[in-house]
Amino acid sequence: MSEHDRSPLEPLPPDSLASYDAVFGELPVMVALIRDGRFAYLNRAGQRGMGATSSDQWLGHYLESFSPDEDVPLIRSRLSTVQEAHAIAPLRHGRLRRLDGTLFDVEAMMVPVVIGDVGVAQCIAREVTPRQRALAQADEQFATAFRASPDGIVIVRARDLTILEANPAWCALTGCDLATIEGRTLGDLGVALKPDEQQELLTRIERDGRVRDVALQYRREGGGEWRWALVSVESLVVDGERSVLAIARDVTEDRMLQARLRQSQKMDAVGQLAGGIAHDFNNLLTVIRANTELVIGDLPSAEPVQDDLNSIIEAVDRAAALTRQLLAFSRTQSLDTRPVDLNDTLRTAGHMMVRILGPGIAFEWRLGDVPFVLADRGQVEQILMNLLVNARDAMPDGGLIELETAAESVTAETFSEQVTGISVEPGDYVRWTVIDHGHGMSPETRAHVFEPFFTTKEQGRGTGLGLATVYGIVKQSQGYIWIDSTAGSGTSVHVYLPVAPPARCAAPDQSR
Ligand code: ADP
Ligand code: MG
Repeated sequence: MSEHDRSPLEPLPPDSLASYDAVFGELPVMVALIRDGRFAYLNRAGQRGMGATSSDQWLGHYLESFSPDEDVPLIRSRLSTVQEAHAIAPLRHGRLRRLDGTLFDVEAMMVPVVIGDVGVAQCIAREVTPRQRALAQADEQFATAFRASPDGIVIVRARDLTILEANPAWCALTGCDLATIEGRTLGDLGVALKPDEQQELLTRIERDGRVRDVALQYRREGGGEWRWALVSVESLVVDGERSVLAIARDVTEDRMLQARLRQSQKMDAVGQLAGGIAHDFNNLLTVIRANTELVIGDLPSAEPVQDDLNSIIEAVDRAAALTRQLLAFSRTQSLDTRPVDLNDTLRTAGHMMVRILGPGIAFEWRLGDVPFVLADRGQVEQILMNLLVNARDAMPDGGLIELETAAESVTAETFSEQVTGISVEPGDYVRWTVIDHGHGMSPETRAHVFEPFFTTKEQGRGTGLGLATVYGIVKQSQGYIWIDSTAGSGTSVHVYLPVAPPARCAAPDQSR
């Protein structure tokens, strides 16, 4: 190598070298002392190994000149670890070239030592067969794969669930600290599966020796919510003890997304169905109403049957109102969207509605300083009406309804899993919330409230169209809705409407 120093190597202090040789000279492994990258000493086993017959074949020669080119960087880095960082450097698989040119595999260890007062690298090497070398390499590759795997991998003893080995991804998954898990049991750490699922899993491992891709619920270190993981397990024997290797991936997010997708597809399907029927039904109602009016017009006004005919008209109008709600839900009505002052709309419509809600209902308004939203004012009133009626129905003995508005910017993380629809358009919104302190909803009820005709009210009291209509209007207005409610402790319905773009707001006159 051209950059190599060709000057003779300064010899090591002879007395110290002699004592060193007395210890290492006849050792049956290759021992060398490397000074500044060059051979300063080689024991007998080393000379035999290299096929050297005299010291000038190696003394002062560079170690790297005996290794294949591709190993040179590795050798240099190990030597610098030893000589500059004064640290031990293992070389799991290296190769050396004998004087006759043949290559052989070695496993080596380099250690900093001091001979007299000179610091050198002591290199102890053992020839290994190609198979041993391949195994060492495979071992190292496996260890790398184990450490770098994005899936959590853990090996536990079957008897007591003691952790024998775990990778960083598993620690991230379970919230454990890699430095402190060794020798502890899953129980100690508080990492748990649901008991019945764990039992089922163990039974299947016992029976089949392995389990592939099962979705299980688990809890991270220190408790908390149950999350979902996709788990594969393989049984194996470690140090004569039955153990299991488990590979796990968190799929909580995926499952939530899928559930939302299913829900929104269901709502779309029901919406299409309802919309189709509502249109035809509306046409029929128009015919009924028109003909009834014709009959009324043809009759003398004193005819007693007039009252009956007027009842038909009233019923037809109520039916038409219902179909309008269905159309709203199916999002097939036409909206007149324009910048709307939400606070003003809510205040005006609200005060009017308070009266029809009946006695016993108190109101509290908390209207924030919010920009105009892009919406259909009439539909906003419809939403308010439906929400207020529901709030009142939830408080049969009366109570407080709170109404709140606030400007909020929405990101993909803003909503919990129960928000309608799956994709969230980030941006500026105005949130308005209707809060009641009524009986609230069970999780089962909450899961269905937006479906048309879903009602928990007695026959004749509820149509099940209130929230379905609200849902349709909000979706059609590019907004979001979600409900926060637990049985027994009231309900908050949050509606998000998009802020109107500035150009479309009535801007104050800037001209002078
Ligand atoms: P309806 O009011 O005709 O039953 P909705 O679509 O308005 O239909 O509501 C569906 C169901 O949702 C109700 O029957 C009720 O169980 C539940 N619900 C809606 N709003 C509330 C609320 N504020 N508090 C408790 N439950 C509610
Ligand atoms: Mg209702």
